Amino acid sequence: MDKRMLVLRFPNSITDKPIVCRLSRDFSLDFNILKAEIFPGREGLMVLEISGPKKEMSKGLAYLKAQGVVVTPVAREIRRNDETCIQCGACTGMCPTQALSIEPGTFRVLFDPRKCTACGMCLMICPVRAMEIRFAKEKILA
Ligand code: SF4
Ligand code: SF4
Repeated sequence: MDKRMLVLRFPNSITDKPIVCRLSRDFSLDFNILKAEIFPGREGLMVLEISGPKKEMSKGLAYLKAQGVVVTPVAREIRRNDETCIQCGACTGMCPTQALSIEPGTFRVLFDPRKCTACGMCLMICPVRAMEIRFAKEKILA
């Protein structure tokens, strides 16, 4: 068995295609969608926990790649560059774990790395790229 947590990025040209559902139908893979966002006129992003036989995993990931989906492992580490952050708060509505939150009273945007699952959603929304990501080294299609 193989189990992975992945970030899928869908170019604008394929966001309307039923791609992910084929993972279970054609490759016997189970998946759990942890987060999905479509940005109008831009790309779509999905955070997926996926499991199944190793062979099917390789085939399923190769299928995604062939469709133009960019597949990356969930990052090991997310950091915030406090000097770059302008405290706009945009990321707090996007964060699924409340790792980014607004402090009552001061309205400062707080980042708690212990709550961060490294899903990468905040990277999409931050206007000044204050959230930084470090990816795992393992290859997806190894
Ligand atoms: S990467 Fe961490 S801080 Fe950013 S949205 Fe995901 S859980 Fe929240
Ligand atoms: S979106 Fe970026 S600039 Fe705005 S509060 Fe979040 S990290 Fe800071």
